[in-house]
Amino acid sequence: MWVLRPLAPKETDHEAIFAAAIGGAVLMVLAWLSLALPVPACAMKSAAGIPCATCGTTRALHALMEGDAIRAFVLNPLAVVLLLAGSVWFTYAVVAVIFRTRRVRLIRYAKWWARAFAALVLLNWTYLILAGR
Ligand SMILES: [Zn+2]
Repeated sequence: MWVLRPLAPKETDHEAIFAAAIGGAVLMVLAWLSLALPVPACAMKSAAGIPCATCGTTRALHALMEGDAIRAFVLNPLAVVLLLAGSVWFTYAVVAVIFRTRRVRLIRYAKWWARAFAALVLLNWTYLILAGR
């Protein structure tokens, strides 16, 4: 169950951490792209011949930036969902930190959400292996 409540005194500000981490990652990606550095190949796919659970994420991101959501989804469905959800969550986190709004907190069923997410990762990874991504 999710609730909206003020940040408690001395409570970890997860939104500030998330916003800083994602903001920093976006800046690093932009710097990487502006320097035209090569995208490293997947070590697991190179070594074992099968894709890792995140294979296709970079190509999916490129497809999204070109406006081709279908191609992005085919390349790595879960990555697209997480990139879009992460964008929404990043916006929420920045707004929450700047305007000191109430925070979204998961208060029940945390293990259920973790298991559902793990199942989604395994399902997505199976798709990537079967599709040869
Ligand atoms: Zn990979």
